Amino acid sequence: MKAAVLHEVNQPLRMEEVDIAPPGPREVVVRTGASGVCHSDLHFVEGLYATVFPVVLGHEAAGTVEEVGSLVDYVKPGDRVICCLSVFCGHCERCTTGRPVLCSRTGLVRGPDETPRLSQGRDPVTQFANLGSFAEKMLVHENSLVKIDQDIPFEQMALIGCGATTGLGAAMNTAKVEPGSTVAVIGCGGVDLNAIQGAVLAGALRVIAIDAVEDKLSLARKFGATDVIDASSGDVEAR
Ligand SMILES: [Zn+2]
Ligand SMILES: [Zn+2]
Repeated sequence: MKAAVLHEVNQPLRMEEVDIAPPGPREVVVRTGASGVCHSDLHFVEGLYATVFPVVLGHEAAGTVEEVGSLVDYVKPGDRVICCLSVFCGHCERCTTGRPVLCSRTGLVRGPDETPRLSQGRDPVTQFANLGSFAEKMLVHENSLVKIDQDIPFEQMALIGCGATTGLGAAMNTAKVEPGSTVAVIGCGGVDLNAIQGAVLAGALRVIAIDAVEDKLSLARKFGATDVIDASSGDVEAR
């Protein structure tokens, strides 16, 4: 398959052939429908986070199940799925106490003695977040997938894989916004717009969006902000 491969820090991604292994018992081959480009991908390109090269970046994706391993029962070929960048086991203490994001991830990725999921010749290729969505296909554990029935475009589904979830999580899990509260969201980028949406879903009565770019403020209104403050002029704190 074709994939965009990063070979070293601060170099362009190169479109190359990459071999993808057949699915193991609980693995699934997904044909990529769409992938977001997240700022975290850029962090790896710029070397701010470490990885093992070569690597296929991309972790905000959706697609169609193409092939499943012998023990997979959650999805079948043809299912439309959103990829999850924090695969969970469902058995460890963290999973069973409601914090699957902190899963120990035992047995969810291939070991050093196994055939790598992705390779070029004899060399393994790293999958960012165990996904690697800047590619025609992804080989993932079935617990990395969420299937959905709605007929919405892949471009929209993909965003739920990182930006939307991160923003909603910031409002609902980190800030624990309560019904009736007043919330200010500083900056209205992709994650922040979803923090606004999350605050609204959590029942906030007043959601104040703050940004210096007019377009972002009008988007913020669409996502549910009740008040907007243009930070490019005046005393933001006073207003
Ligand atoms: Zn991301
Ligand atoms: Zn777990």
